[in-house]
Amino acid sequence: MGDDDSSSSDGGDILLLIRGLALRNAVEHGGKARVDKVTAKVIATRPDLRSGIKALIPTITATVEEVNRMSVEEQKSALEAMGQGIEGKGEEGVERKQYALPPLPDAVMGRVVTRFPPEPNGYPHIGHAKAVVIDEEYARMYRGRFILRFDDTNPVKERREYYDAIMDGLRWLGVRPDIIKNTSDDMELLYMHAQRLIEVDGAYVCTCRPEAIKRNRASGVGCACRSLSREEHMERWARMFNEYRPNQAILRFMGDMRSSNTVMRDPTLFRIIEHEHPLKGERYRVWPTYDFAASVEDSMDGVTHALRSKEYELRNELYYAILDRLGMRRPLVLEFSRLEFEGMPVSKRRIAPLIEKGLVKGWDDPRLPTLAALRRRGIQPEAIREFVLSLGFTKADTKPPFEVLEAINRRMVDAHALRLFMVRRDDCIRLRVKGLGSENGEGQHVTATAETATDAGGGSRSTHATVRLRNHPTNDALGSRYVRVGNEFYVPLSDIRDAIGREIRLIDLYNVVVERVGEGYTHADARFTGYGVKDVKKVQWVSVDEAVEVKVLVPRQLYVDDKYNPESLGVVHAYAESYALKVDMGSMVQFVRFGFCRADAQGVFIMAHK
Ligand SMILES: [Zn+2]
Repeated sequence: MGDDDSSSSDGGDILLLIRGLALRNAVEHGGKARVDKVTAKVIATRPDLRSGIKALIPTITATVEEVNRMSVEEQKSALEAMGQGIEGKGEEGVERKQYALPPLPDAVMGRVVTRFPPEPNGYPHIGHAKAVVIDEEYARMYRGRFILRFDDTNPVKERREYYDAIMDGLRWLGVRPDIIKNTSDDMELLYMHAQRLIEVDGAYVCTCRPEAIKRNRASGVGCACRSLSREEHMERWARMFNEYRPNQAILRFMGDMRSSNTVMRDPTLFRIIEHEHPLKGERYRVWPTYDFAASVEDSMDGVTHALRSKEYELRNELYYAILDRLGMRRPLVLEFSRLEFEGMPVSKRRIAPLIEKGLVKGWDDPRLPTLAALRRRGIQPEAIREFVLSLGFTKADTKPPFEVLEAINRRMVDAHALRLFMVRRDDCIRLRVKGLGSENGEGQHVTATAETATDAGGGSRSTHATVRLRNHPTNDALGSRYVRVGNEFYVPLSDIRDAIGREIRLIDLYNVVVERVGEGYTHADARFTGYGVKDVKKVQWVSVDEAVEVKVLVPRQLYVDDKYNPESLGVVHAYAESYALKVDMGSMVQFVRFGFCRADAQGVFIMAHK
């Protein structure tokens, strides 16, 4: 071990601890946790947190509020999911926690079929990740099958680009569907079922004007089309394929125009859309709605458990009613809450205008919660998986702070990220070290290639050496790198400003006493005092000999108080050691004392988190 004291935070474990304690407190007190009780428990469990407890109060309060919005049943199942967390070491020695989801109702081992049905109308985001991870996890848990089905029946909104983006995102997440299919592959089957539905008086073709339909729906009144004969509707249905114009006719479910659930007031099952489909071209013009396609496809595909987000809850009645009229098998529909982060919109409706206005730079802008953006930012797919499972399968709305995901990610990248030195240019001073003489090169950390050279500047003698630095304080497999050092370094001004007359340690190098800081705080002089590790302030450094300029993008919360945050993308210019230009694109580095960053382009990094 050297004296690189960059510590890896246990923030994620603290957040999980708080969540666990809040859940327990709630379950023990009729579903309502209390901030003061949970705070006391946190201190009792982790006395070391006592001094910093004030800073944790907002997190504890937010967690308690989130937990208190859950039903007691949900609290119990979430607590159980956490309790079942098994800590283990993964292949690469990284600690992982495994979470088990609560059992599925009516699940038979070997017979469970789940599906993830995204519409290819945008980029996949953290909400999709939640759905797909849970769907796949349940299929694996019951040794069943998992289907990826593109629900692509609205050609106006769908694009080839989005199918590819979804496939890329899922592949990156490590999702392995047993079957991949498109709803648009089944159009003929869907037409057949529509026809059957007309034959059993379960559907009718309505040719009323859209405004009239809307009005009737609101007032709960049926239109004249409803009472036409079955034969008339079969004929109208046929005309939908070649004669009616868009909006002139729709196939409606024969529901209940007086139902208190307005979804049941004769909803649309098929409509005419004249638009080229990304896969099927112009082959079809009559397209099913989500309601029809989802229920019939699920039943045909053998889905046993159809998991979908809670916003569809009111549509469950229709889902089952369509299948009942058709005499088709009913999958069991289960809801889970949507997942999004505070201040990070997930919907295409909100992201697309930001891209158009140039306020974010594309779907993979690191401020967005799309998978492409999270990936670019250096969030690991395993972290997303663990994060989703740690939240459990609950119906209560969850808007966990992004820091929870960061904390899990930090634990995963900590063991593999190269440690590199960098000094921000807005907090930088040039330090010249005197008194090295020929000693530079004999120290414990300095290898044998020391050489004496003539300083090009003033012609004065100065000593250069090549220093070997470990790439990671504990993971020896990451090896080491060589840095050429002279007697001038960029160091953080904030470390030097108050160190005049004091001894400091240049991390992994040697100790110096800061003698003088020049006017304007641009340069400082120091005297070499020895190699031995001492208990003095540790300062990172970048050798002026081989400093390179790098840029680090620092994503922050995109929306604050529901308003676009113009400060949401910070840019830090810094000096880094030249090795920063040699790392593989996409790899993670930890800039010591700054944070974990992903190499995005030559000399450009994106900060993942501290
Ligand atoms: Zn009508």
